[in-house]
Amino acid sequence: MGAPDLNLSATVAHWIGGRATPGTSTRAQPVYQPATGAVAREVVLASAEDVNAAVTAAKAAFPAWADTPPIRRARVLFKFLDLLNQHRDTLAAMITAEHGKVFTDAQGEVTRGIEIVEFACGIPQLLKGDYTEQVSTGIDNWTMRQPLGVVAGITPFNFPCMVPCWMFPVAIACGNSFVLKPSERDPSPSLFMAELLQQAGLPDGVFNVVQGDKLAVDTLLTHPDVKALSFVGSTPIAQYIYETGAHHGKRVQALGGAKNHMVVMPDADLDQAVDALVGAAYGSAGERCMAISVAVLVGDVADKIVPKLAERAKQLKIKNGMELDAEMGPIVTKQALERIEGYIAHGVSEGAKLVVDGRGFKVPGHENGYWLGGTLFDHVTPQMKIYQEEIFGPVLGCVRVKDFAEAVDLVNAHEYGNGVACYTRDGNVAREFARRIQVGMVGINVPIPVPMAWHGFGGWKRSLFGDTHAYGEEGVRFYTKQKSVMQRWPESTAKGAEFVMPTAK
Ligand code: NAD
Repeated sequence: MGAPDLNLSATVAHWIGGRATPGTSTRAQPVYQPATGAVAREVVLASAEDVNAAVTAAKAAFPAWADTPPIRRARVLFKFLDLLNQHRDTLAAMITAEHGKVFTDAQGEVTRGIEIVEFACGIPQLLKGDYTEQVSTGIDNWTMRQPLGVVAGITPFNFPCMVPCWMFPVAIACGNSFVLKPSERDPSPSLFMAELLQQAGLPDGVFNVVQGDKLAVDTLLTHPDVKALSFVGSTPIAQYIYETGAHHGKRVQALGGAKNHMVVMPDADLDQAVDALVGAAYGSAGERCMAISVAVLVGDVADKIVPKLAERAKQLKIKNGMELDAEMGPIVTKQALERIEGYIAHGVSEGAKLVVDGRGFKVPGHENGYWLGGTLFDHVTPQMKIYQEEIFGPVLGCVRVKDFAEAVDLVNAHEYGNGVACYTRDGNVAREFARRIQVGMVGINVPIPVPMAWHGFGGWKRSLFGDTHAYGEEGVRFYTKQKSVMQRWPESTAKGAEFVMPTAK
């Protein structure tokens, strides 16, 4: 396949005030190509001074952008949308190079990001306020939603285009200015999107990118001019961001980790269930917050499908993601690979049955890549660490339960509540499942139920800290504050001071 020419510079810089800059820091770290293990480039790691410069640029750009009529803000986003569509394969190839996921999956990621931009283009409609005429004689009352100021986003490695797009299109459409701190493991797509936003006519300073690590995050978390923070990443960091951000008076939404179950009922179409489990467990090497990592097999389902799952796990086409028939690429880093292998060893030691062992997988010609084959455990129990913790790799654990009630209790007892699925042909079971399950995003015969751009994304329990979900109308609420205005004119104002609580007259 003719891969787009990425033409990336050797150093991934920041984007501050409308231009790429290496900043002041002397710190940098390598960005790897997980398929080969080679260092592709390096990314600068911001100093506090660099972060302050980005916030200052965003603060300076805010008043004029907030004053720009929403329809004109939307026009910039329409142009950005056009550019994203033109360059979608370049973005996808960038993702595959730095993250490792297969190119077709990366194209899907870009498409899901683009959908949020499409949603944000509708901002004039979304910002329409409420109006009540005559709340008392001669008095009207209305509400409007206004932007917060400088807002920041901190994003994980696993969706370097889509997750930033959960945040900044909605935030800037609402009239805020934005500072993005992307994952240092795959930083290039953010910088590329910054350039496209500038080409689309976004005023300098409205969108900024600071590359970096904990130092950059902590500077944003405590900066008095940052009014709100959106975070997506692992649960311990999400909790830290939520608590620290709130302590510093910021509005915070912090989306965390997951352990997503798929319940397979005996009446389900079992071939469809196997297809769904294989795709949702091993797609993107299991490095999705909505990946299915636990199959909950009800009644006699396990005996029927575990052999099929094993066969399919062994047949996965695992190779460099730029090869178009690849089904699964490498793991993002060597450290992540070692962590996942550690979980597999732990699963064996705690008594789960290792049906397919993906350790030691080799891809000819890519001997230094971070490879792991699809791995399958059976007879996993809720007491095991491989059941309780997020592995974030291509490891599927099967838990056997006797009936529907036990399946629901199992899912509800887990500390995470991001996504869940139920495969069944029984409408009442499906309905009961959707009503009773303590999880934020539910799929009925849909393995990865990522909500569409206008529905909002968010888990429950320790998968989300904060009140509002990402994007959709909840996103608009998160990035704006409501103001209520009550108005009357001298003609309808009674004479004399009023000392009692005003009521409708
Ligand atoms: P991570 O938590 O390691 O990193 C996320 C971001 O936080 C990065 O930008 C990173 O630089 C920063 N960070 C890391 N350690 C920090 C620290 N000590 N202090 C301050 N900032 C820090 O997550 P990751 O490995 O990049 O991504 C994978 C995780 O993200 C998984 O747990 C996955 O479930 C989760 N995730 C959740 C969702 C969701 O919507 N709930 C979506 C995607 C990914």
